[in-house]
Amino acid sequence: MPKIKYPTPLVEMQGDEMTRVLWDWIKEILIEPYVELNVDFYDLGLPAREKTADKVTLDAAEAIKKYGVGVKCATITPNAQRVEEYNLSKMWLSPNGTIRAALDGTVFRAPVLVDGIVPFIPSWKKPITIARHAYGDVYRNCEIKVDGDAVGELTVRYKDGRVETKRIAEFTGGGVLQGIHNTDASIESFARSCFNFALDTKQNLWFATKDTISKTYDRRFKDIFAQVFEKDYKDKFGKAGISYDYTLIDDSVARVVRSDGGFIWALKNYDGDVMSDMVATAYGSLAMMTSVLVSPDGKYEYEAAHGTVTRHYYRYRDGEETSTNSVATIFAWTGALRKRGELDNVKALCNFADKLEAATVKTIESGYMTKDLVGLFRKDGVTPVPLNSREFLLKIKENL
Ligand code: NAP
Ligand code: MG
Repeated sequence: MPKIKYPTPLVEMQGDEMTRVLWDWIKEILIEPYVELNVDFYDLGLPAREKTADKVTLDAAEAIKKYGVGVKCATITPNAQRVEEYNLSKMWLSPNGTIRAALDGTVFRAPVLVDGIVPFIPSWKKPITIARHAYGDVYRNCEIKVDGDAVGELTVRYKDGRVETKRIAEFTGGGVLQGIHNTDASIESFARSCFNFALDTKQNLWFATKDTISKTYDRRFKDIFAQVFEKDYKDKFGKAGISYDYTLIDDSVARVVRSDGGFIWALKNYDGDVMSDMVATAYGSLAMMTSVLVSPDGKYEYEAAHGTVTRHYYRYRDGEETSTNSVATIFAWTGALRKRGELDNVKALCNFADKLEAATVKTIESGYMTKDLVGLFRKDGVTPVPLNSREFLLKIKENL
C-alpha cells in the first residue's frame, strides 16, 4: 500500500516523560508505516524549553496559527521540584497556558467510549463534550483578607474620568473579599468557538450559568451568547439540524445526569474545571479523555487530557515494564490527522484516522488493554488481558 500523503504541514509538538516515549512508539508502530508525515516539528520537552528560554513554545503556537492544525504530547509544567530535577534557570510557564493564550482558544474535552467500560452513570451512552471557558473569573481574581471592622467596595475608574463605586459589604470583625472579571471580547471568542465546534461535530450545544443570582456578571455571558447566536449561527444551526439551549446551571446538572450524552456542555471557567473532572471520572478513566483547543478563527490543537504519567516514566527509566494507556494520545493524533485531511481535502487521511480509532476501540473491546482499564472492564465472555505499553500498540496494529 502506498503511504498516504497530504500537502500542508501538521504542527507536531513532542513532550515529556512517559508520554514522550509513547509518542515515538505510536508514530513508529501505528502511523509512519501508513502515512508519509509532513510535519513542522517542535520539541516542547522541558530540556528543549530550557535551552531555548521557552521560545520553542511561542514558535509552536505561531506555527499552529499558520498551518491551522497541531498535535501535542503532554508536557511538564515546572514547579519548584522540577526546577531542581531539570536544573532550570527559570520556572517556565505551562506550555498549554502559553498556547491557549496565543490562540485565544476554548478547550473541548470528550471521553473515548468502549463497550465493556460502563460509565458510573449507566444511561450515558454517547460522549459528553465539556467546553470550558479558559479566561478570567476566579482564576484571575484579586483577594483581600479583611482583619477588622471595615467597608469593602468595588470601584471602576474609566479612562474618561467617570467613576462608579458600589458597596460590597460592611465588615464587623473581619472576613474575606474577592474581585473577579471577564471581558466582552473573551466571552465572545468563547461563544464563537462553541458554536463553531457544535457545527463541526454536529452536536447540540448547551450553555449554563447562574444568571438568576449573578444578574449582571453571568447575565453578560448569557446575553453575548444569545446575540452571537442570533446574528451569525441561528441559520447554520437550523440547516445542520442542531440546537442551542441556555439553561440555569442547576437545571443543567440535573438534565446532564439524566441524559444519554451526545452533546456539548459549555461552561464558565470554574464550572468547567469542576464538571470536567466529574464527567471524566464518571466515564471511567482520565487516560481515555481527549482534548482539543479550538480558536475562534478555526485553528485546532489536539492532545490527551492527562499528564506525562511521571510515576510510570520513573519505572520505565529504571528498566521496568510499564503498562501505560496510550488511547488519548492515539486519539490526539487521529483527531489532528482527520482535521488535516478535512482541511486539505485528503479523504484517505480522514479514512485512516477513522480506521485507527476503530482498531483502538476494537482492541479493548476484544479484551486486550493496559492495566488501568482491567479493573473497569466488564463484558460477558471476555476476560481482560493486561498488556504492557508496547504490546498494546502492537495489538492495535494487528487489528488495524
Ligand atoms: P498524570 O500524568 O495525568 O498522572 C496521574 C496518575 O494518573 C498517574 O500516576 C497514573 O496513575 C494515572 N494516569 C494518567 N494517565 C495515565 C495513562 N495514560 N495510563 C495509565 N495511567 C495514567 O498527572 P500528574 O502525575 O499530576 O502530572 C505529571 C506531570 O504531567 C506533571 O509534571 C504535570 O505538570 C504534567 N501535566 C501535563 C498536562 C498536559 O501537558 N496537558 C496535563 C496534566 C499534567 P498510577 O500511577 O496510579 O498508575
Ligand atoms: Mg481541575
